[in-house]
Amino acid sequence: MGLRFASLGSGSKGNGTVVASGDHFLLVDCGFTIKETERRMARLGMSPADISAIVVTHEHSDHLSGVGPLARRYGLPVYLTPGTFKARDIGKLPELHLIEGHQPFVVADIEVTPVAVPHDAREAAQFVFRCRGSSLGLLTDLGTITPHVEAHFGDCDALVLEANHDPLMLAQGPYPPSLKRRVGGAYGHLSNQQAAGFLQRVGYEQLQHLVVAHISEKNNSLALAKEALAEVAETVESCIFACQQEGFDWLTVESRS
Ligand SMILES: [Zn+2]
Ligand SMILES: [Zn+2]
Repeated sequence: MGLRFASLGSGSKGNGTVVASGDHFLLVDCGFTIKETERRMARLGMSPADISAIVVTHEHSDHLSGVGPLARRYGLPVYLTPGTFKARDIGKLPELHLIEGHQPFVVADIEVTPVAVPHDAREAAQFVFRCRGSSLGLLTDLGTITPHVEAHFGDCDALVLEANHDPLMLAQGPYPPSLKRRVGGAYGHLSNQQAAGFLQRVGYEQLQHLVVAHISEKNNSLALAKEALAEVAETVESCIFACQQEGFDWLTVESRS
């Protein structure tokens, strides 16, 4: 069997994605308290004690706030870029691994490729996971799709892709002007249209699962995200919209034959 993945929750109030191969579990980001993480993992039939390592994308609190406490409580190794490590004081970690130069690394039997993304963080990375002929890309928290991002995420078997906002809702929404510029800017978050445009450019026929994620509760609606991605959703085998409260349940990526 190839990779499996599920989410503890997705959005600006907290993120956490579990990537699994057999009995090995990686947690990508943790924006929840220990108690909340345990509760959300129980929903997926697992506990933090099952985790081999935590991999961190960047220092924003919706991704990082729970990492230090969870790592200390359960004695978990943490992988992050030097920039992310320096950006915040996350306290003493039981086992620190610095991702150097965005070089791929292996945890358990999962190969993890960090990909640099334009985001307003010190050294943000997103990741492609590979195991026994199947690949999964996690791509949220970026303001622009660069050629580098396209090259790495263009042919994944499964993809968790940000569709953060609708530009009109963002413009007319409650955020102050500076935050609107940040979210909609080149180092902010992908709009529904940017997400759809990326998929149109790279092609999506090979995708087993598309999970639309990090959907803003204030600057987007499920209806608008679905409308922007309607053509893709009709073509791919499964298209799911992740939510802040529930994340999404386990999905399996079959190995390419
Ligand atoms: Zn985020
Ligand atoms: Zn962020």
